[in-house]
Amino acid sequence: LLHLEDINKSYIQGKMDVPVLHDINLDIEEGEYVAIMGPSGSGKSTLMNIIGCLDKPTSGSYVLDGNEVANMKDKELSIVRNKCIGFVFQNFNLLPRQSALQNVELPLQYANVPRRLRKNLCVEALTSVALEERMSFKPTQLSGGQKQRVAIARAMVNSPKILLADEPTGALDSKSGIQVMGLFERLHNEGVTIVMITHAREIAEYADRIITIFDGRITSDEINKNKVVVKHSDNTSEVNAAQG
Ligand code: ATP
Ligand code: MG
Repeated sequence: LLHLEDINKSYIQGKMDVPVLHDINLDIEEGEYVAIMGPSGSGKSTLMNIIGCLDKPTSGSYVLDGNEVANMKDKELSIVRNKCIGFVFQNFNLLPRQSALQNVELPLQYANVPRRLRKNLCVEALTSVALEERMSFKPTQLSGGQKQRVAIARAMVNSPKILLADEPTGALDSKSGIQVMGLFERLHNEGVTIVMITHAREIAEYADRIITIFDGRITSDEINKNKVVVKHSDNTSEVNAAQG
């Protein structure tokens, strides 16, 4: 599904070219659940931005779902991105003045889904994260865990193949973090490809495969033998408890 070959990325700072990623080679198959781990400044978000087509590599080849990203015009790229990838960020990135429902509706508007179909898709997405009773709430009226669940509903409302998450539990208490990992596990079981970036080993251990990056290079890429699975009962009972 994702194929990265000899990817390099540098940022221009003043007149300097600062290399951040070096010779990244990486394949991710459909349905995989991958964590990318590494310390602060190692290049995780830079790699996520490339995988998510929010930024282009300086050199190398990136083929996403059969499309060579380097050859695509910005417009084509944004279409492929909208269709293929849902994003979740550490700080939720919700629009503060819009309700949960309106936030979830955004990707459908970008994708020109007819208005009459949108509402049902949004209600379905919010119901699947147990927020059907909070649909009209604004982000300020929601807890951190609830905001992240709105963000997950928004990421998935288009049914993308890939969920890309950058430190999805970074701003959450551990209980809300476990709920989010429970939702990821369910999406994984439904066949969604998950790429999750984290600096925390205990979060990486929810994935099936753990890639470590250090100073912009992949230093290990292994099956996770200690995979932690959120028990379904834990997940639903905690989501329901958080519902109040
Ligand atoms: P963290 O865990 O703190 O989020 P990270 O692994 O996500 O770190 P990146 O954000 O990818 O790290 O940054 C990697 C390096 O690239 C850092 O040295 C950073 O200063 C540099 N960098 C990131 N974005 C830019 C940019 N837009 N312009 C210039 N340098 C950048
Ligand atoms: Mg980062």
